Amino acid sequence: MSGDATRLAELFDRARRAVAFTGAGVSTESGIPDFRSPGGIWDRFDPNEFTYANFIGSLEGRRKYWELGRVTYPVIRAARPNAAHVALVELHGRDRLDCCITQNIDGLHQAAGLPPEKVIELHGNATRARCLACSAAYTRDEVHAWLEAGDAAPTCPACGGIVKPATVLFGEAMPEGAMAEAERRAREADLFVVLGSSLVVYPAAYIPLHAREAGATLVIVNLAPTPLDARADLVIRGRAGQIMSAVLERMDR
Ligand code: NAD
Repeated sequence: MSGDATRLAELFDRARRAVAFTGAGVSTESGIPDFRSPGGIWDRFDPNEFTYANFIGSLEGRRKYWELGRVTYPVIRAARPNAAHVALVELHGRDRLDCCITQNIDGLHQAAGLPPEKVIELHGNATRARCLACSAAYTRDEVHAWLEAGDAAPTCPACGGIVKPATVLFGEAMPEGAMAEAERRAREADLFVVLGSSLVVYPAAYIPLHAREAGATLVIVNLAPTPLDARADLVIRGRAGQIMSAVLERMDR
């Protein structure tokens, strides 16, 4: 690991535009399970049930969604940033990070201190919700208070519309602005570092490929192999927090 960390430290030292691309694996050290590791969310719930079509299409679909939310959101709410989140803030402080493109919905990059404008959220944010009819905004805490009070599929107190979390569900359109910005930043990067992503969720997983095609050095830091490992210049198998802490120690500045 130490040779790999030294190599990544050198790449950060040399980079003019380094972009981080994070997935659920960057938050497992904060206690939020990822989706695909053994014991992850999809070992306990069936992903096919949690589609946008099911959420919009039926009361039963929304009930199922919020049932999952009652398990997952309290874990997200209680989580605190870990060494990987802190390392990215440190890189930003040293002026070595252009931005962080994240698939995560937990808000931990911002909680660690990365300025919100430096975080591009591809899959939305679990701490907010919105009425699909009148666009009234609610915090996720408000929605969960309604759930706890016995409302299994909350509707908007203002207009009765469907209240949906501000996350991108399976089968839902990606946020256009965030995707376009992520693609642009990826193409302009000279160093693109994937941290804790299985790289199987599309279209997000195209972003590292855009970076590679445009000439960036591609680094993948992940516990398990990914389909893009063969395209990467450096693959580091290990924990994102541990590796990024080692990288910071080895950097010149
Ligand atoms: P994923 O669950 O598909 O893959 C996570 C990857 O991270 C795995 O390959 C695993 O081996 C690796 N990993 C786990 N712990 C690690 C660690 N400490 N260091 C390095 N690697 C580690 O996650 P994904 O690729 O982000 O895609 C799943 C989707 O689920 C995402 O789009 C995201 O929206 C959502 N999700 C988000 C959260 C969150 O916000 N924290 C949690 C679960 C799922």
